[in-house]
Amino acid sequence: MSGPLEGRGAVVTGAGRGIGRAIAQRLAADGARVAALDLNLADAEATVAGTADPQRHLALDCDVSDSASVAAAVAAARHAFGRLDIAVANAGIGKAPGDGSEEMYAAMARRAEDPAVPVDQLIHMGDEGWRGVVRVNLDGAFFLMRETVRVMAADGNAGSLVCISSTSAQSGEGSPHYCASKAGVIGLVRQLSRELAPRGIRVNAVAPGPTDTPIMQGIPDDWITSMEASIPLGRMARPEEVAASVAWLASDEASFTTGSVLVANGGSYFF
Ligand code: NAP
Repeated sequence: MSGPLEGRGAVVTGAGRGIGRAIAQRLAADGARVAALDLNLADAEATVAGTADPQRHLALDCDVSDSASVAAAVAAARHAFGRLDIAVANAGIGKAPGDGSEEMYAAMARRAEDPAVPVDQLIHMGDEGWRGVVRVNLDGAFFLMRETVRVMAADGNAGSLVCISSTSAQSGEGSPHYCASKAGVIGLVRQLSRELAPRGIRVNAVAPGPTDTPIMQGIPDDWITSMEASIPLGRMARPEEVAASVAWLASDEASFTTGSVLVANGGSYFF
């Protein structure tokens, strides 16, 4: 197999479905050896099985909110591939138990009858509901960046790190914990891009807009319809379109790009 990422080792979190699966399969198609990490090992295995040459890749179970789990998975990928060059912090969630989303959806439904009904989430959000999302979206990105750079530093090799943020980081459309965690990811990327530049490690974010993946399930149909109508390109992104942005940032074509946020949102919001 040959391609722009030939000879590279990569790890992708949340690679069992959706955008993460598309990223893992695209990096594999571009020639990298890919460790697909997910909470659900069977899903990660299905991602690897969907590549052209599954035996070149690795499926691992990993909870990104647990630093020991991330360290073990990164070490396993380094061991299997002999090197790590690319890490993509993709795993993310939009809600967690006790975060007030049930109350918010109920208020949305009542508001359809009475426009004066306030749609609150913040006042219903418990500490664990807040932490549940921040732990995966922001702690998880930090753990993956740290463990990967520890390996890269020990090996003395450069590389490309990519974190999946969201248009919500800038637009504020979404839940408090989601928007805050996705904005936090951009701050992390910007700081790391400066700290790691002397090592030749580039760090960037991709900020998708609404993308057609399982994370959208459970969102009321009328929200989806009005959201798509508000996107200048008139539809949600396909996971493969987000993966293409990641593949470019991971490649040498992006050799002078670090600390950036690559926006893939159909023109719905300008950063
Ligand atoms: P998705 O379809 O829900 O897939 C997320 C994947 O991450 C799932 O395989 C899930 O595993 C896994 N995951 C969840 N928690 C994890 C954890 N603690 N450790 C490891 N893996 C975990 O989501 P998606 O739509 O592809 O989103 C991927 C990323 O893009 C997220 O960071 C999301 O915030 C971001 N994003 C998505 C959109 C969108 O509209 N879809 C827009 C902007 C940004 P399980 O199936 O086992 O839970």
